[in-house]
Amino acid sequence: MFKAASKDRVAAALHRIAQDVEHGRVTPSETAARLDRVKMALSQTAQQALSALGPVQASSREEVMKGFKSANPALTDEELEEIADHWEENKDVVKDQAKTAAAPACDGERGCKAPLFFKDSKGYVYCEKHGDKLKAGGRTGVSKLTSAEKKKLEAEG
Ligand SMILES: [Zn+2]
Repeated sequence: MFKAASKDRVAAALHRIAQDVEHGRVTPSETAARLDRVKMALSQTAQQALSALGPVQASSREEVMKGFKSANPALTDEELEEIADHWEENKDVVKDQAKTAAAPACDGERGCKAPLFFKDSKGYVYCEKHGDKLKAGGRTGVSKLTSAEKKKLEAEG
């Protein structure tokens, strides 16, 4: 059974935060980070604990486990491992989303978002305008993407 931190511990942490806020000793972002730690300590399940952690803020299992152990020393090693497992699952989801965000885009110019229209022999892809420019400049091996290739690129993105 997952253990949330003791009431005393949570109350004391909230009290310290309240005092620091009252005396202007912390910035809003510091306050938010500390409240996140309280949420971590209040979590009843590994899943909740992880959502309290927010978007992946750690780079290793060890870091995740250390962070949670300091937020809630009552957690057993087994529970910390469970959180780390969830974190690892979640991390891959986030990574996949990042990959999706970096969908194939025109290689003709950085930041060009125009629909892809051409490819070249090296596997680069271009929008109509930038592909035409390359061809006009004498680049060989630039050819139109087939509709199947376009679909495939869209699927990747
Ligand atoms: Zn372009």
